[in-house]
Formats: sequence, C-alpha cells, structure tokens
Amino acid sequence: MSEAAAALTPASGIPLPVVTELSRPYWDGLAEGELRFQRCAACGNAWLPAREECPACLADAWAWEASGGGGRVISWVIYRQGVHPAFADRVPYNVAVVELDEGPRLITSIDAPEDALAIEQPVRLVPWSEQGVHLARFAPVS
Ligand SMILES: [Zn+2]
Repeated sequence: MSEAAAALTPASGIPLPVVTELSRPYWDGLAEGELRFQRCAACGNAWLPAREECPACLADAWAWEASGGGGRVISWVIYRQGVHPAFADRVPYNVAVVELDEGPRLITSIDAPEDALAIEQPVRLVPWSEQGVHLARFAPVS
C-alpha cells in the first residue's frame, strides 16, 4: 500500500480513494456537488477517470468540464456477500456502470432497490458523502 493510500484509510477500514494532483479537480468538484470529467482539446473525446492523455487520440491537451448530472445505466451487479470486510454489513448493494450524457462512463452505485435497476434506466447524479469523502452516486429518474 502506498503512503498516500495508508494516510487516507480511516479507522473503519473502508478503502478510500487516493487523490492525486491529476484527479484533484474531480474530487474537488464532487465536494462542490459537481461531477467533472476531462475533454480532449484535439478530438473532443470525454472521459473518466482522470488520466494524462486522451484515451482516444493520446493528445495531452484537455480541460475539465462539469457534467449536467444526467446519465443512463449501462450495467450493474448486485453484491450479496461482503467481498471486503468493511462492506459486509451493507449487502446486498449494487455497483453500476453509468454513462453520462456527455459520454464518460464511471463505476458508481445507484440509490435504488434492486428491482428498480434496468439497462438504459435514466439516472441523475446524487452527491454522496462518506468518511469525509464526496462520491458520485446516482438515482433513477422516473
Ligand atoms: Zn483526443
């Protein structure tokens, strides 16, 4: 485990994200209730998570943009066993892939019962805070 990761692991044992200078705008945005992603200045591709170069054309000219918060469910799984001990008391819970209206996809969780999840289900950003870290979760849009 890196020094940075150890510094961010709370007493609860829940693994927390390691914030780097590259990813800091993403985490700062969530703290402000905004989901930010990167867009390539050369080809217009948009992506998450943070990286130095555009995954489509490898250009290193890009800028952060704020998502409008809308998206759709691409896929999900339901965890029925606590794979990590810190999450054992949370089962069952879902881990989902959401595609933002602007194009980037992220791994997240949908704040909804299992029977409300569906492929292409429209969802909306729900800022979520845990252990002092702000996370992007989503809720179905009816
Ligand atoms: Zn590009």
